[in-house]
Amino acid sequence: MGRQFAILPDTEENQALGENVHPSGWTNPTPADCYNLVVIGAGTAGLVTAAGAAGLGAKVALIEREFMGGDCLNVGCVPSKGVIRPARAIHHARASGEFGVGGTEHLSIDFGKAMERMRRIRADISSHDSVRRYSETLGVDVFLGEGRFAGPNAIEVDGTRLRFKRAAICTGARAAAPPIPGIGEAGYLTNETVFSLTELPGNLAVIGAGPIGCELSQAFRRLGSRVTLLEMGSHILPREDPDAAGIVQDAIIAEGVDLILNAKVARVTMEGREKVLHVEQGESTKEIRVGIGRAPNVDSLNLESAGVVYDPRRGVDVNDRLQTSNPRVYAAGDICFPYKFTHTADALARILIANALFLGRQKSSALVVPWCTYTDPEVAHVGMYEVDAKAKGIAVETLTIPLADVDRALLDGEAEGFARVHLRKGSDTILGATIVSGHAGDMINEFSLAITAGLGLSAIGKTIHPYPTQGEVIKKLADAYNRTRLTPTVQKILGAWLRWQRS
Ligand SMILES: Cc1cc2nc3c(=O)[nH]c(=O)nc-3n(C[C@H](O)[C@H](O)[C@H](O)COP(=O)(O)OP(=O)(O)OC[C@H]3O[C@@H](n4cnc5c(N)ncnc54)[C@H](O)[C@@H]3O)c2cc1C
Repeated sequence: MGRQFAILPDTEENQALGENVHPSGWTNPTPADCYNLVVIGAGTAGLVTAAGAAGLGAKVALIEREFMGGDCLNVGCVPSKGVIRPARAIHHARASGEFGVGGTEHLSIDFGKAMERMRRIRADISSHDSVRRYSETLGVDVFLGEGRFAGPNAIEVDGTRLRFKRAAICTGARAAAPPIPGIGEAGYLTNETVFSLTELPGNLAVIGAGPIGCELSQAFRRLGSRVTLLEMGSHILPREDPDAAGIVQDAIIAEGVDLILNAKVARVTMEGREKVLHVEQGESTKEIRVGIGRAPNVDSLNLESAGVVYDPRRGVDVNDRLQTSNPRVYAAGDICFPYKFTHTADALARILIANALFLGRQKSSALVVPWCTYTDPEVAHVGMYEVDAKAKGIAVETLTIPLADVDRALLDGEAEGFARVHLRKGSDTILGATIVSGHAGDMINEFSLAITAGLGLSAIGKTIHPYPTQGEVIKKLADAYNRTRLTPTVQKILGAWLRWQRS
């Protein structure tokens, strides 16, 4: 999206979005003498920080150089899930022959309409993040423009100086050009431009099979593009449980995504009007589409003037309480945290408010962070993987129940998947869990709650789960754990008791 202040294409829905997130003709307010908190960046981290602090009575300024809502609303979670939904709809409709649905071979999808729906819903949602709501309802001084430190206790925006007691850096990250010779000249899409498409690309090469690459590859394949997914590693979703990644990998290959593993894109050239990707091992594709890589937004902040230590690739350095090397300046969100999600940006913002404004001592390391990749099936995870636990010298016991053991998953035709839990050996303490299912993102919350509240797997075992639901797979894990407690000695005692009862 660059530094333009219109979101493309120039349609009614995007104009409505623009009026919410960067209204034309907006005049910045007259600044207060001094703010309790000046927040730079109005993505999730900045919005939650500003709204929460103002709600508690702080005098707050919020600075945004592009669009309120940041990546999540404009070019991230919201539009990506808006594209995934119609892709899922057409895929499930096509696959519904199994249920006796006829005519599935004649189905088609109107890409333009699907994108229009996404844009409409994004515009509707945007009122929540709007300049108007923040300034008029929440009482935040909203400044549109680039924020830049002008010393240890002042920030400049649009020629105006804002003095602060505390500042919050919530400037997130942006798509970074992949270091591939020729790619700049050939041109490529990133998350900042792919959701502006109005026509379905015939050929799409996606570089990098992380969560975003996998979600987009599957969605565009289902919508009708020929998709090539290139990954340097030996399987997709390299950070996930390999069994979980394997199920998604099989699914996307079965749907026709051309997956090239161990692939290094050496360079990009133009042949006539075609863009050719030169991949090690001699593979090539016709067009380049989605670029990879993220870079933290630190460049224009003049952090040196505020004495804030940062790394151009890692972002702003913070301690466990989200404080930077300048004790008055804090940070939250993608700019400083290794888990780059909207829900972590939200959680960090709450810690930032407590610590920066109310002498709080909350630690970001105490957060229990779940996440989900919204492929079909979804892969959701919380806590440790087995390798993490082993690396920390923790003895682990792992239990897995396949979805094929769950009646509802069979009835739904969604039996490819599993739930897996890692326990501290010899106890029911949950270290981590992974779920692969069409609804994994919703189902993982039960484990997140258990870990956060210190509940063991036995507590889940005592909880009644409605029949038939796919969530029963989690109860079955607890039952499997209970069976492990039925040692030969316990069995002997129970047998003797029952024999005595019969006598
Ligand atoms: C395609 C895609 C899909 C995603 N899907 C999901 C998902 O499903 N679930 C999930 O949890 N996460 C998802 N994410 C990640 C999520 O979008 C980010 O983790 C989240 O947006 C981080 O919020 P943030 O506030 O830290 O940063 P951002 O949202 O990046 O906001 C930072 C803001 O700061 C502004 N800014 C930067 N520098 C300055 C400056 N000097 N002055 C003023 N303003 C400035 C920027 O313009 C921006 O608006 C996805 C990301 C992408 C790219």
